[in-house]
Amino acid sequence: MTQAFERRATKLLRDYDEFSPPVDVEALARSLGISVNFEELDSDVSGLMLIEDGSVKVAINEAHHRHRQRFTLAHEIGHMLLHAKGDRVFVDRRFFRNEWSSSGELREEIEANAFAAALLMPRLLIREHVDAKAGITDIDVFRLATQFAVSEQAMTLRLVKLNYIEPD
Ligand SMILES: [Zn+2]
Repeated sequence: MTQAFERRATKLLRDYDEFSPPVDVEALARSLGISVNFEELDSDVSGLMLIEDGSVKVAINEAHHRHRQRFTLAHEIGHMLLHAKGDRVFVDRRFFRNEWSSSGELREEIEANAFAAALLMPRLLIREHVDAKAGITDIDVFRLATQFAVSEQAMTLRLVKLNYIEPD
């Protein structure tokens, strides 16, 4: 499952010439025909996606940090490509907690997160920017998070996932 997401995300980035950090996720969304708006939303809502009659609209919480907004948009792109068959509404609250009611919903959220991480922090690009032999310090995590324009939390999870660092 994870490998398939990696390949799909990498192909998408290459197809739209966005394969360098920081990935321009907004340009990518526009290329995919998604209309992206930054709006006032409940503080616990990261983003919404409305798919109706083939048109795709995403609203991102305008009050959230840019890094979180980028992850939200990447997550919605994941939903669109992986989960949307026909009209549908997605409401996304938090990404790193397991609060979803049904297991089907939970599976979709986990998949959209995995896709978003692969899109914003592609394995191959991380490898280019990491000196694995030297070991990864907190400063490196900060530097990488800045380079890829993601939160340090998201970068840390990604580096654990890619086996560059041990989980805490
Ligand atoms: Zn979601």
